[in-house]
Amino acid sequence: MQITRRTVLKVTGLTATIVALLPRVAFAARNSLRTVRTGIQPGNKTRLVIETSERPSYSLSYPANQLVVTLSNTSANTALAPSMAAGTLVRAITQAQTGDKLQIIADLSSPINEIPRDGIMLLNPNGDNGYRLVLDFVAGSGKSTAKSATVASTATTQTPKKTTPSRKYTIVIDAGHGGKDPGCIGKGGTQEKTVVLSVAKKLKTKLDAVGFQTYLTRSNDTYLKLAQRASIGEKKHADLFLSLHANANPSRAMQGFSIYTLSEKASDEEAQKLADAENAADKIDVSGFEQFDKDIRIALSALQQHAVAAMSVEYANGCASQFKRAKITQQPGPDVRHAPFAVLRSTVPGALIELGHLSNAAEEKLLKSSAHQDKLVAAIVKSVQSYNFDV
Ligand SMILES: [Zn+2]
Repeated sequence: MQITRRTVLKVTGLTATIVALLPRVAFAARNSLRTVRTGIQPGNKTRLVIETSERPSYSLSYPANQLVVTLSNTSANTALAPSMAAGTLVRAITQAQTGDKLQIIADLSSPINEIPRDGIMLLNPNGDNGYRLVLDFVAGSGKSTAKSATVASTATTQTPKKTTPSRKYTIVIDAGHGGKDPGCIGKGGTQEKTVVLSVAKKLKTKLDAVGFQTYLTRSNDTYLKLAQRASIGEKKHADLFLSLHANANPSRAMQGFSIYTLSEKASDEEAQKLADAENAADKIDVSGFEQFDKDIRIALSALQQHAVAAMSVEYANGCASQFKRAKITQQPGPDVRHAPFAVLRSTVPGALIELGHLSNAAEEKLLKSSAHQDKLVAAIVKSVQSYNFDV
């Protein structure tokens, strides 16, 4: 069946609106375009997400004031209605099919430079989402890479629609330590495992109330191996994994929260020490504990690792800014640090949040108080709500 629709014919800069019959697709494409959407990221970055049914093979080019994504062996989506967020550099999106190549042409309000490696993510399907090619970019000179290429082909017009969440997002909340492993203990006897369980339960209640699907790795005083905690994130197909902890420091004066994401190399010596301390939880021998589920494969491709790391850092930065906005004391140092935390080793983006220092007398008191726990929870809820899940 042939479909009649309005198309825009773009030839060397002239744009004419015509009514045309689109030729039938004369090849069997392996891949197909599902959706295209745009969004705004922290740092005023424009995010362009291209979702396909199969893993895309793509190339990028940068004609004047355009970003062109060429997908090989891919068929157009004739019913495509891109979801366009306000305030991005993307003014319009069109598709152009040439043989088995599909071009997605983003008309930009200003030129951009070539998108660096860390501005490109390729995500595997999760939930209702297919494969997603995620491109983050800002306005640039465009001079270094601008090419004189013009795209001459027929393309469909698109009507922007509002961005709405496509589904209920799943958060796994991990209260650190538990059972025989108390975590760190304050001078007043407050145990880390107790404080973080209390905060985790409050956080679950609040996140449930604002529409998230949440799971706790533990809801009572039990010991879990770190890999098992991570595997709960995998099994629940979580969108975000939050591991809650409280800190101890040889200096009793040290206080404040700190936020960490996974990296095989620690960002600093202190972060490495902390990861060693948190990872040591697995050295506690608990007899009769069930075997870690071997079916959970945590073998990630480099590109996947890169994507998970980038999304984790994005979340962690947002989380740090919500804590600061709530005037919660921050440990001196960078907003987000990185270290090889075993509990974060999975395909789920996430962060380990050290809520404060139990080794500091004033902060121990705060961490025990329900009012301060509520304040921490409110900041985390905001960080989750402001995180862009829909990529
Ligand atoms: Zn801990």
